[in-house]
Amino acid sequence: MADIKCIGILTSGGDAPGMNAAIRAVTRSAIYNGFKVKGIYRGYKGLLTDEIEDFKTQNVSNIIQAGGTILKTARCKEFQTPEGRQLAYDTLRRHEIDALVVIGGDGSLTGARIFANEFNFPCIGLPGTIDNDLFGTDKTIGYDTALNTIMECVDKIRDTATSHERLFFIEVMGRDAGFLALNGAIATGAEAAIIPEISTEVDQLAELISNGFRKSKNSSIVLVAESPVTGGAMGLAERVHREYPAYDVRVSILGHLQRGGSPTATDRILASRMGAAAIDALMEDQRNVMIGIQNDQIVYVPFSKAIKNDKPIDRTLLETLRKLSI
Ligand code: ADP
Repeated sequence: MADIKCIGILTSGGDAPGMNAAIRAVTRSAIYNGFKVKGIYRGYKGLLTDEIEDFKTQNVSNIIQAGGTILKTARCKEFQTPEGRQLAYDTLRRHEIDALVVIGGDGSLTGARIFANEFNFPCIGLPGTIDNDLFGTDKTIGYDTALNTIMECVDKIRDTATSHERLFFIEVMGRDAGFLALNGAIATGAEAAIIPEISTEVDQLAELISNGFRKSKNSSIVLVAESPVTGGAMGLAERVHREYPAYDVRVSILGHLQRGGSPTATDRILASRMGAAAIDALMEDQRNVMIGIQNDQIVYVPFSKAIKNDKPIDRTLLETLRKLSI
């Protein structure tokens, strides 16, 4: 621990509401504990282009309520090469940064893991993604806000769906993970959720139709996770046109609005706890771990586990949805 004096912080990959609250927490907690802090702009790219600024407590004033990330985020192909990572390391040394806190998703933490091992450089990860798809943590920063945004949108679509007696496929984010679709469906009283976790096991559309859904109802809403396997909401609607032409089907793709907005109280508190825990972890000589939360307790999850393992969906939730949509 004695060798860490200055901590760098960056946000990388897909943005998520609550990243600012996490930046604030890391910065303030680090300064509180006597460290210097440097903000690195545009994810790993900022390490190659040298976009780095000293961060004081004022740099993170008035941001806890803001969506997006004041540090900006980016994808950086060069960081995936050994040469790119060497340049990044040289920049860190030049700025006398001794440890890195990376806020991002699966890809960003994979990068942090490789970098940490290559240069024996202390890295701590915070799970920042609306998809909630990182193993070892019950929740990720941004997930709760996105879920609430989805709920508000679906409630509005329901008004028009009911007026016209239509079947609506509403596509939500989560290419490989159905947390948003499944819990969004339960929260909005939707008919069903079509999720990637089981799309290779069963034909969820055929199952939906054969269960006789919509018989007793004048409108139906199905939440669909974007997915190359099912073709997402568009792909499923095309199938309905072809295979079940009796249905009047409409598609709504929520898209990027799911990433925006002021974070919920739950996300702000989660980000604040995780940000502070990142500094605790460094002071406890933890290396190459992601901060997670399990049963409302902060835990340290080795990068290797957080990245490699798939986070399973709770299948009892599917059963609950099925029961409640009769
Ligand atoms: P997310 O973090 O939201 O999953 P990405 O998968 O796009 O987003 O990853 C963000 C960035 O993390 C990439 O642009 C790259 O800079 C870095 N990264 C991802 N995978 C690797 C890897 N295998 N090696 C090194 N860096 C990586």
